[in-house]
Amino acid sequence: MEKNQIVELEITDLSYEAMGVAHLDGLTIFVNNALPGEKVEAKILKVKKSFAFAKIEKILVESPDRIKVKLNQWVQTGLASLAHLSYEKQLEFKRQQVVNLLQKAHLDLPVANCLPSPEETGYRNKAQTPVRDVKGQLEIGFFRKHSHDLVPMEDFMTNDPEIDRILLATRDVLRKYHVPAYDERRHKGLVRYIDVRRSKATGDAMVILVCLYKDFKNIEKISQEIANIDGVVSVYLNHNPQKTNVILGKHDYLLAGQKQIIDKIGDLEFNISPQSFFQINGQQTNNLYDLAIKRADLNKDMLVVDAYSGIGTIGLSLANQVKKVIGVEVVKPAVQDSKVNAAINGITNTEYVVGKAEEEMPKWADEGIKPDVVFVDPPRKGLTPEFIEGVVKSGAKKVVYISCNPATMVRDMVEFEKEGYGLTEINPVDMFPMTPHVECVTVLERTEK
Ligand code: SAH
Repeated sequence: MEKNQIVELEITDLSYEAMGVAHLDGLTIFVNNALPGEKVEAKILKVKKSFAFAKIEKILVESPDRIKVKLNQWVQTGLASLAHLSYEKQLEFKRQQVVNLLQKAHLDLPVANCLPSPEETGYRNKAQTPVRDVKGQLEIGFFRKHSHDLVPMEDFMTNDPEIDRILLATRDVLRKYHVPAYDERRHKGLVRYIDVRRSKATGDAMVILVCLYKDFKNIEKISQEIANIDGVVSVYLNHNPQKTNVILGKHDYLLAGQKQIIDKIGDLEFNISPQSFFQINGQQTNNLYDLAIKRADLNKDMLVVDAYSGIGTIGLSLANQVKKVIGVEVVKPAVQDSKVNAAINGITNTEYVVGKAEEEMPKWADEGIKPDVVFVDPPRKGLTPEFIEGVVKSGAKKVVYISCNPATMVRDMVEFEKEGYGLTEINPVDMFPMTPHVECVTVLERTEK
């Protein structure tokens, strides 16, 4: 098999990155945009030792689950790479990811149906949108899969439509003042990203211009015009001078309006600043937390740990059901937010510290702190052995594991099981419709001692 060869393929599966999978001449072939059950004529793009990549030239037999997608770019880029699959099948696909991972780990556990998101599109409350020069014009859009080529876009499908409106209006202000877009190859230009965060609860939005420099021509006029866009109450410059794929730099400068916006989860209000992590699918976050809290089976005598706490959303959501919550989060401004968030919601039984969960948890255990339930909600890389040891040492009866990456969750479950924690059902929750991302909740229960 070689590059540019045209082959006929039968798609038998969907990879965890939402690529169609076929087998030919002893190779596994990943076909962009193809669905199981389809027969396609495909062009080979790249050949490696045991696998190859291909793209569809023609669909010969179409899957009944294929959805006609309004904009090709949604699937072409990583923005919504599952948009061509019916929503019902997306949910099945996500559940199956978890089932497959459990099988590989030789774990025999029930996996519930994936909880559908109340909104299938327009659910994102935050959009970090790349800005680049395309054919001499400043454009916003999304990167083509596995590249940094910008595909210009105006309708982002998964964003709150109000965010799209604000993005376009901001883009137009930048164009009006001939502000240069960032040029990644030469590390020149100015605006790298436009980051918009919007609260559906209040309708207020924050615009963050992520820039290579912290000052530029017409900065005051530009900030003022952006602040005048309907719904925008806060405008920031984030300074990111580094050659890096990390979106935000370390420092934010308020250009106009208020420092923070307020969003809601359930009845609680949360202050959000440019750097704070906040779940991006607001409505489904309610459901996720409800499920996790229900599965924790809390009572008024309990001490609860909220690890990887962000701005304290989980701990604060359950604080009124328990005696006390202690939380740990590595981002300092997020911890400050969690303290303010406790105060504005009149919550007095939570204590959040800045630190690494894997250092704090063992320290607490050594100090004799004995939590009843430990909530964890780590980033994609999951937990560390030090953290797990800390939990074991603390004698916690229950761990409620919220995960955005089932592969590392299953890996960590195996470790907990070795340490005498019983495994229970896994609940996949769809936080990111149209993308292959799977969120899960499960509970580990101490069975020994
Ligand atoms: N529970 C929160 C945030 C979850 S995202 C919510 O539901 O909104 C994961 C969080 O873990 C992020 O806020 C990230 O900053 C934090 N984090 C990453 N590594 C960490 C570590 N080693 N120790 C503590 N927190 C960490």
